[in-house]
Amino acid sequence: MDTIKYTLSENQMPTAWYNIQADLPKPMPPVLHPATYQPITAKDLEPLFPQELISQEVSTEPWIEIPEEVQSIYRQWRPTPLYRARRLEKALDTPAKIYYKYEGVSPAGSHKPNTAIPQAYYNKQAGVKRLTTETGAGQWGSSLAVAGAFFGLEVVVYMVKVSYRQKPYRRAFMESFGARVIASPSDETEAGRKILQENPDSTGSLGIAISEAVEVAVQDDQTKYALGSVLNHVLHHQTIIGQEAQTQLEQAGDYPDIIVGCTGGGSNFAGIAFPFMGARLRGEQSDIKFVAVEPAACPTLTKGKYTYDFGDTAHLTPLVKMHTLGSSFVPQGFHAGGLRYHGMAPLLSHVVELGLIETRAFTQLDCFAAGLTFARAEGILPAPEANHAVKGAIDEALRCKEEGVSKTILFNLCGHGHFDMQAYMDYEAGLLRDTEYRVEEIAMALSGLPVIS
Ligand SMILES: *Cc1c(COP(=O)(O)O)cnc(C)c1O
Repeated sequence: MDTIKYTLSENQMPTAWYNIQADLPKPMPPVLHPATYQPITAKDLEPLFPQELISQEVSTEPWIEIPEEVQSIYRQWRPTPLYRARRLEKALDTPAKIYYKYEGVSPAGSHKPNTAIPQAYYNKQAGVKRLTTETGAGQWGSSLAVAGAFFGLEVVVYMVKVSYRQKPYRRAFMESFGARVIASPSDETEAGRKILQENPDSTGSLGIAISEAVEVAVQDDQTKYALGSVLNHVLHHQTIIGQEAQTQLEQAGDYPDIIVGCTGGGSNFAGIAFPFMGARLRGEQSDIKFVAVEPAACPTLTKGKYTYDFGDTAHLTPLVKMHTLGSSFVPQGFHAGGLRYHGMAPLLSHVVELGLIETRAFTQLDCFAAGLTFARAEGILPAPEANHAVKGAIDEALRCKEEGVSKTILFNLCGHGHFDMQAYMDYEAGLLRDTEYRVEEIAMALSGLPVIS
């Protein structure tokens, strides 16, 4: 019998998150204070995050225990299935073996609840009443709304205006769980009002929405801020994906030669890749090719600069060393909202600089085509973001076919596309365009980078 699905029982779910910093050959550069440009202290972060998350942010311990209460919520949808894509392999006529880890089975339909649940938990433990956050495509806001409902926390979501208009169902989803959703830029914050003054028609960006959410959090000591990607603790929380995949591939009697994921802020990629990379760094496993895929219209890893930059447009966040297109860069409207961020997780950027990861950028039409090839073979319609990983995996499988070699490919199917049907309708109607990044816009955004001596 050809096995299709590798499932684990609830008691096989990992009980600790993995921190790759413990195994890195070179430590990460320090995080700098936005005003003094000096290394920040834990105290500087206290207005934004509860103590436990700050500890996780700076920890170099390899394992962080998952609290029992978080585990018990995880068990509602975890462990998630690992599939062998046999029908896709056949459709591509490739000798490669393709596996995908499916995170779309979570309540919000993506990997984001893996970090939303613990973030809400630690905030609740610390006595926080309200969380502010930003959301692009709506997946993160949805996840935090669910987590807030579980723990009795108020959730306020600044949603990038273009998505607020394009995705009314995502907004309705968040509101169903009691979250308040505000189109960003808004006139509720100084950061939002400033942008609207300069450009009343601004359709917003993640960088702007982050500024609004951070501003509100620092002004009220009952309120803290939550971020759905980029930060070290978020990447740690996502490593449950890769740890489960390790056990599932053991069951399958396989080991990946290639691991592919899409990168917006870097968390789902890190989630699937870091446990395997750690094993490699500790010398326990043979070499793996890691491939990070991003949109050609927001080419942070392939065209950005590795330097200190702010995480937001109004320059309220600390400075981190990362691949960036400049904090004022606003990508053109393309349909993978979750991949439209100017920066990248510092931890992932660091690992890219160490030469451990290959990077690729694909245009959205190619990604939608790949997503439909996948959907018609496997029956799951991926999120537009996940289509980038699908495209990356299919390309690797087709290269195997050309070269006549059978490699084992693992990719992360980080979410389903059921809230993204407008994008698929536009694609089918031929309305989508391949918007390349604009060279001069990136040059302008990069010219505004902070100068750190
Ligand atoms: C948020 C999101 C992304 C991008 O964020 P990462 O931190 O890079 O994972 C990608 N895919 C989906 C489905 C998302 O919800």
